[in-house]
Amino acid sequence: MNEIKLTCIVCPNGCELIVGKKEDGSLEVAGNLCPKGVKFAADELERPVRTFTGTAVTVFEDFPVAPVKINREVPREQIPSVARYVNTLTLTKRYAPGDIVEENVLGLGADLVATADMRLEES
Ligand code: SF4
Repeated sequence: MNEIKLTCIVCPNGCELIVGKKEDGSLEVAGNLCPKGVKFAADELERPVRTFTGTAVTVFEDFPVAPVKINREVPREQIPSVARYVNTLTLTKRYAPGDIVEENVLGLGADLVATADMRLEES
């Protein structure tokens, strides 16, 4: 049985998982402090997903860079594309936390949302 080491990122405990695949295809997971680690390991091997948080440039001198995130996990391999795309954006509107900056980023089914209140800087 081949073993793979993974770090569970579901909670701050960061359990070091040892994952083995049995001959019948089922997984054997060790090192997890709770059942979520088993699901994380299964998802990670079958279809790893991640979220994205970053910043986007704005046109506002008093708020030149704004934090943003996507509101849904997307396939892990798409995260670099999302990051590159966000780097091309220039925000021209002041957003409140949770406002959608752009729907369905790159057709991935996740929206880009603001995570800071840009309106606070208005005078
Ligand atoms: S296995 Fe459970 S306790 Fe450990 S990091 Fe994952 S979610 Fe947290």
